[in-house]
Amino acid sequence: PHYLMWFRRDLRIHDNTALAALCERANEDNASVSAVFFLTPEQWQAHDTSLVQVDHIARTLPILAKELQSQLNITLTVQLCSSFADCIDALTTLCNDNEISCIMANHEYEGNEIDRDEQLSKQLAKDGIEFVRWHDQCILPPKTITTNDGDSMYKVFTPFYKKWRHTLDVSTIQMHEAPAVDSDYKIKLPSSQTFANTIDKIKSLSEKMLSDYQQTLEKNESLQHIDMIAQLDRARDAYPAGESAACQRLEAFVDDDINNYDVSRDVPHLHATSQLSAYLTIGSISPRLCYLQANAAQEKLHGNDGDNEDINRWISELAWRDFYRHVLVEKPNLIRHKAYKEETDTKINWSYDTDDFEAWCTGMTGVPLVDAAMRCLNATGFMHNRLRMVTAMFLTKDLLIDWRLGERYFMQQLIDGDFASNNGGWQWSASTGTDSAPYFRIMNPFSQANTHDSKALFIKTWLPELKDIPNSILHNEDKMRKELAKGGKFADVDYPAPMVEHKSARKLAIAEFKK
Ligand code: FAD
Repeated sequence: PHYLMWFRRDLRIHDNTALAALCERANEDNASVSAVFFLTPEQWQAHDTSLVQVDHIARTLPILAKELQSQLNITLTVQLCSSFADCIDALTTLCNDNEISCIMANHEYEGNEIDRDEQLSKQLAKDGIEFVRWHDQCILPPKTITTNDGDSMYKVFTPFYKKWRHTLDVSTIQMHEAPAVDSDYKIKLPSSQTFANTIDKIKSLSEKMLSDYQQTLEKNESLQHIDMIAQLDRARDAYPAGESAACQRLEAFVDDDINNYDVSRDVPHLHATSQLSAYLTIGSISPRLCYLQANAAQEKLHGNDGDNEDINRWISELAWRDFYRHVLVEKPNLIRHKAYKEETDTKINWSYDTDDFEAWCTGMTGVPLVDAAMRCLNATGFMHNRLRMVTAMFLTKDLLIDWRLGERYFMQQLIDGDFASNNGGWQWSASTGTDSAPYFRIMNPFSQANTHDSKALFIKTWLPELKDIPNSILHNEDKMRKELAKGGKFADVDYPAPMVEHKSARKLAIAEFKK
């Protein structure tokens, strides 16, 4: 028999649940194994996938192909398919032409992905072809962490986390390693330019797709302020592709930075967080490996009963990632742009002011920390977690702009753009989500700057025009307004006054939520 591994957001060979299961079964059944990945640019565009993330996928595929071949004896075929609907036809054809009797893949939890898999499953069943899916994206799969008094999903993170942590403490997590398979086979391909099954061809097919993707995005009026080539260059430097690069980053973080995480994670200019999200999002590294390495570091430091605040804090961030995926599975409507707290959709009078939104996107709000963060995002495709909260709150509370506009903009820029985490983060900030920030607790971007960027090192990196303005002015809205009004230190500086007064904007937002 012939079996097929379908890679999606799991671009790695170690601890890949579906891959391990398929290879084991192939060896038992004396079957040969091949693998496939579909480039789906139209679908990605419909999902607002950023150019830097598509590039990251494109850079990862040749590396994955090489590792699959050399370590597991499996050939990867990459096929250009536009949309998910085309993938269904392509897979059905592949199965029929190659007498494939079983496909395995890892679950994806978003709406179009679920619909695609269900349709495919029905279609393949007609021909007696198995389509088996495995839970792989979370450390503990959705629906396994439920309330003690029933089987419902937690609505608040803290009790979810306690149960999640307890479950991990009393059980052993398995890493699933795929054995090499005895016989690989190259899928028979129709004579067409849209397939590639050698490393060179995979590279050129991916590069061509990427350049078309970039050209399409360049036509988008609302993204004209992004220098896409510079953004790509920076992201390529910051995120070398592939599983080994991701594992090295994890090791370096656990060796050097995890011990100060609790303190330094909130200081944007330090780069003291793991920066693994880009790899976790496309599945270049296993989240279970991240957990196990952190846990091992904890045991090394403190023995079996160890308790280390820094390491615990980092593990809790991995739990947030699981939490938002579990929430999405529980509330599939989130993918249809619904708020978790649905009443906020009808009762809050969100603004759609295009000038205000543009000022936020381009980093021209006159609020230094917000602008520095947005310019960093536009330039690099990454934003620090604290700044994601500050900028998201500024948009949704100070400007009262619909969180969905910010959510979409982040997806269009972020290298780690991920529906569940992004939607969760936005709804947390907008106070419309599960376990969200209470609506009256609104971050003041000036005092956030004072606390987390006290020397304005981050601000001055991204807003060099402010390099000579004293921090005491940058961190205080009243002083900044006064200085701007009299010219003063701003006389030769091209930088706008804050577009709203935080104190009064805060009052308006609270009144809107109260109402
Ligand atoms: P670390 O601090 O090293 O954390 C380790 C890992 O834990 C991260 O790589 C990530 O996978 C996970 N994690 C950390 N914090 C969170 C969190 N709050 N929610 C969910 N998972 C978390 N994360 C994404 O991966 N993709 C997104 O699209 C995304 N959008 C966000 C939007 C907003 C408005 C907010 C407030 C947060 C968003 N986050 C998102 C979460 C978080 O900001 C990033 O995961 C984090 O900044 C990535 O940096 P890191 O890898 O260095 O994280």
